Amino acid sequence: MSGVSVVILGSANVDVIIELDRIPGPGETVLTDASDRGRGGKGNNQAIAAARAGAPTVFLGAVGADESGDFLLEAQREAGIDVTHVRRIEDAPSGTAYVMVDSRAENAIVVVAGANGQLLSLTDAEREVLRGADALLMQLEVPMATVLEAAAQTKRAGGYVVLNAAPYAELPDELIANLDLLMVNEHEAALAAGRSGTPEELAATIGERVPDVLITLGAAGSLLQRRGSDPVRINAPKVDAVDTTGAGDTFAGAYVAATVAGLPEQGRLEYAAAAAALAVQRPGAVASIPRADEIQDAVRRYFA
Ligand code: AMP
Repeated sequence: MSGVSVVILGSANVDVIIELDRIPGPGETVLTDASDRGRGGKGNNQAIAAARAGAPTVFLGAVGADESGDFLLEAQREAGIDVTHVRRIEDAPSGTAYVMVDSRAENAIVVVAGANGQLLSLTDAEREVLRGADALLMQLEVPMATVLEAAAQTKRAGGYVVLNAAPYAELPDELIANLDLLMVNEHEAALAAGRSGTPEELAATIGERVPDVLITLGAAGSLLQRRGSDPVRINAPKVDAVDTTGAGDTFAGAYVAATVAGLPEQGRLEYAAAAAALAVQRPGAVASIPRADEIQDAVRRYFA
């Protein structure tokens, strides 16, 4: 397969957002009529972010053969993602995240993996897609064995392999050996480094095992450490954040899109930070992810 730019392998979930005065404790029942449905899952969010940021994108994942699966794929298609290879699972529902939010904006979340948990190994067709990728972007919401196999396939064919290690899990050596870039937030960076320290110190420690390390620092920006180069650190644009859900996913998708587009390091970071800054100023996960024209405009405004 040729002409594939970015492949995202990961989860897709329907988010059921339930607003409550108070999150119930054990044995308790709480009534509410404030419930909403959205699209999420780190894989889905990052695929939509990469596609809207301008990269020809293929999503590899699994959804149920249910209405929720249609709901998820509809937004992917709308973003221009190639969904040809997304599996429709007959005997598992689409992944679902139940998000309870109380009146103080504290939340409690239960994720039912559903179809995402069925990605236990790759099909021949999926392997072929991975071998044609310029870049592969993955997270850790699908089974580790599949993440390992996808990294190996892409790496062997010369693609750039990126792991966003979220939610954090111990990374097997054979996975690390096939990574070009590890992307983490500050909390995950400390876990990956096995110690606390400044972002620069954490990046240096992780950089002993992975060639490129990117640490996102929330409103404080981000840091990129490439082996053999000086670290590049940029500040996040100062904006009024209303909802930071999906900020990291937007950053990841836009960063990889900028990478395959050939932007230099500083330009990639600015493009990703501008995309994430736009996302935090709007509510929702997928709904808040910006398009390439908006991002380019924001880069000029924020980083001129
Ligand atoms: P995080 O996952 O919290 O590290 O955030 C990922 C990226 O989103 C950061 O590196 C920033 O570029 C952006 N971001 C997150 N929170 C904010 C904020 N309050 N204002 C501006 N940008 C933000």
